Amino acid sequence: MSRSPSLPDRPRLELDADMSDEERLEALREHYEAIVDVHDQLAEQLDEADRRREQLKAKVDRLERENEKLKQSSLYIATVEEVDEDQGEVVVKQHGNNQEVLSDLSARMQDQVEAGDRVAVNDSFAIQSVLSNETDARAQAMEVEASPDMTYDDIGGLEGEIREVREAVEEPLTNPEQFAEAGIDPPSGVLLHGPPGTGKTMLAKAVANHTDATFIKMAGSELVRKFIGEGSRLVRDLFALAEEREPSIIFIDEIDAIASKRTDSKTSGDAEVQRTMMQLLSEMDGFEERGEVRILAATNRFDMLDRAILRPGRFDRLIEVPKPDFDGRKRIFEIHTREMNVSDDVDYGDLARQTDGHNGSEIASITTEAGMFAIRDERSTVTMADFEDAIEKLREEGEGQPTGTSEQLDYAY
Ligand code: ATP
Repeated sequence: MSRSPSLPDRPRLELDADMSDEERLEALREHYEAIVDVHDQLAEQLDEADRRREQLKAKVDRLERENEKLKQSSLYIATVEEVDEDQGEVVVKQHGNNQEVLSDLSARMQDQVEAGDRVAVNDSFAIQSVLSNETDARAQAMEVEASPDMTYDDIGGLEGEIREVREAVEEPLTNPEQFAEAGIDPPSGVLLHGPPGTGKTMLAKAVANHTDATFIKMAGSELVRKFIGEGSRLVRDLFALAEEREPSIIFIDEIDAIASKRTDSKTSGDAEVQRTMMQLLSEMDGFEERGEVRILAATNRFDMLDRAILRPGRFDRLIEVPKPDFDGRKRIFEIHTREMNVSDDVDYGDLARQTDGHNGSEIASITTEAGMFAIRDERSTVTMADFEDAIEKLREEGEGQPTGTSEQLDYAY
């Protein structure tokens, strides 16, 4: 609500006939000063009013823009399937419901549209714009690294698992003849399963590095949360990209998000997840001549997986990645302090004992936190006390509570 500022009182000149000339002059001077004072006050009020008017104008502009936006109807995302330039027509497939529609192609868009483009269409399926690469979900949904710099030496305590991954993924890539001669089909897909933060992603990256393969990662949970309606197309793109870039390693993290046991619920979200999983299965089944592409996936929820993805020809090699045992934890401490200036009193065995039940990711945070304690204290050497404070801090924060001892394997996270 606008408030009108109160105006200053109008100054009055009161002259008396009996006044002497000096008194008159004095009264006139006072009156003049009062007028100047009022003028200043009014000038200030005017400035304030101007400022307020500017603010309101900016607000009106913003609201008008928002109003304009609200009046425009939303556009839908579709993929161009075919372009018939002679007829000025185009076939587009709407994401989400996969409906295919024949629509007119406006003269303005004729030179810009090609088959395969992602486009924004209006209610009558007329193409309004071609989406640029930045808005392309394919780029956002996949993490591509030409050759990650992770090595097996960066992974602590998983010697047996590293050996298994090398046999199942590295050997078939580097030594395919050996499998052909022995008449054995290498595993189609390798599933790494176990509690979170134990090095599953590291294993996949290290194997990509050691085979000079491109690492292409897609997170199942993101497909379901962020790229609604595009899951199956992205899975198709994932395999196409892997073939383009071979040798390559496909890594599907949190695969349980798209390959859980079927539920009875019939929401459209579930149908979409089902479609994404079916696409994954069909890609794997149709990927007989896989060439130099290997497929790895990871999950913390092995118990929830739909068994269909574990059939032969799909994820037919399971490798369990457990929480680190005593030696593993000790090694992970050593790895993560390699670049640190650590004082002689630091006893890795003791640290490993104090972190029973913790995973590799927690140990990595403990070492970073210990370093922070030293920096806060303006020391360049990290001491045993810093590590112990860091362990304590992690425990207090609650996140560091071990989810079970290393002997227990607990998948209900
Ligand atoms: P999630 O299931 O949560 O995706 P993950 O098993 O894939 O976890 P990673 O992403 O590989 O775990 O590990 C997370 C981080 O924890 C790594 O970047 C590393 O710093 C540390 N870490 C985990 N396990 C190990 C390990 N065995 N050796 C060394 N560092 C480890």
